[in-house]
Amino acid sequence: MSRLLTVKNVKKVYQSRFSGQLVHALRQIDFTIDEGEYVAIMGESGSGKSTLLNLIATLDKPTSGLIQLRDMDFNRILEKEAANFRRDHLGFVFQDFNLLDTFSVKDNILLPLVLSRTPYPKMEARLTPLAAALGISELLEKYPYELSGGQQQRVAIARALITQPELLLADEPTGALDSKTSNQLLQLFERLNDNGQTILMVTHSSIAASHAQRVLFIKDGQVFHQLYRGKKNNQQFLETIAETMTALLTKEG
Ligand code: ADP
Ligand code: MG
Repeated sequence: MSRLLTVKNVKKVYQSRFSGQLVHALRQIDFTIDEGEYVAIMGESGSGKSTLLNLIATLDKPTSGLIQLRDMDFNRILEKEAANFRRDHLGFVFQDFNLLDTFSVKDNILLPLVLSRTPYPKMEARLTPLAAALGISELLEKYPYELSGGQQQRVAIARALITQPELLLADEPTGALDSKTSNQLLQLFERLNDNGQTILMVTHSSIAASHAQRVLFIKDGQVFHQLYRGKKNNQQFLETIAETMTALLTKEG
């Protein structure tokens, strides 16, 4: 397996606008992801998950440290190139979908390809099988406000995948979904990963994390533990994750 993502020695310090105080959101983050992996990063609210994902998404820059996709060093990507870089290499799924209400479902999904001036026949050729795989073929002419939360999330996933990104990034993708719809989304992510999609998801949910192949735990801006699924099924992996969290909490207390 070849290395897809390298995160090395990454720190992120925010300065509070009001008090001027420094917030050490990420103190020291080190990990790598190989092509084809499905990795979940778990941590409580405020542990730095979104900060980390935004750095990997090139939406923000680390205070120090290295982030690399294959051999592309993010520190070398110029401000004006960042949007193109994101569009060409990364896909994002956010908790709150971020769909444009004045665009049809189809136009929402195709937007990244329109921005990169992809010829129309190629757009259609990608859209048709992707929409079928996500079960949204019947929804393409509708508008986001006509859809349920689960349907909106699947549209957001289609938009993230239409560019065939090397890495799919998801920030609490089940955060706004009920448990049945969450479960469908998690099964969909598993299927995407079975078909070769590399996925990095951050979540505070151990159920969501139990669908990944590997789980990193972050706390106080550091990765302090990791688990591999091995041959466990989701339920067994969930139990291991829960036991690990209890053990780590007890150790602390
Ligand atoms: P999580 O996603 O795990 O809930 P975040 O990455 O959003 O955590 O936040 C980590 C820490 O950094 C928190 O203490 C948060 O208040 C702080 N933080 C996040 N974004 C900013 C910002 N733009 N300015 C100042 N502090 C921030
Ligand atoms: Mg967050």
